[in-house]
Amino acid sequence: MAERRADDHAWLEVACDLAALCPPSVTAFSVGAVVVDGDGRELARGHSREGDPHDHAEEAALAKIEGIDLGAATVYSSLEPCGQRKSRARTCAALILAAGVRRVVFAWTEPSLFVEGTGAELLRAHGVEVVQLPELADRARLPNAHLL
Ligand SMILES: [Zn+2]
Repeated sequence: MAERRADDHAWLEVACDLAALCPPSVTAFSVGAVVVDGDGRELARGHSREGDPHDHAEEAALAKIEGIDLGAATVYSSLEPCGQRKSRARTCAALILAAGVRRVVFAWTEPSLFVEGTGAELLRAHGVEVVQLPELADRARLPNAHLL
């Protein structure tokens, strides 16, 4: 059962604000992500196109973590992790599963603009706890207003 935790809102706000760091794009969303461990400590953060035009936020954040068990970690992402993508072979949902993360919190459901958004379904199908905080969706949409 997906349950909201006390600090979910604050961490998701951090993720939403990270999206402001993304280099502008007319072909991809601006997204921010933070990975937090089971004790509420930040492990890494990332944003879209951080090091490369094809970087996704969750991908950029997870790439910074090595040798840490992420079984109790939560990935916070302003946008639903992608379940399909055109730019690279591995979706963020697949990367999250491969990293062993069992909990994801996001604000905004991916609109079917570039690809069909099925990341949350995919994660849930693999037993990952997925929580959406819709009250932050407007904040996640803000840096993407030019795409919509
Ligand atoms: Zn992605």
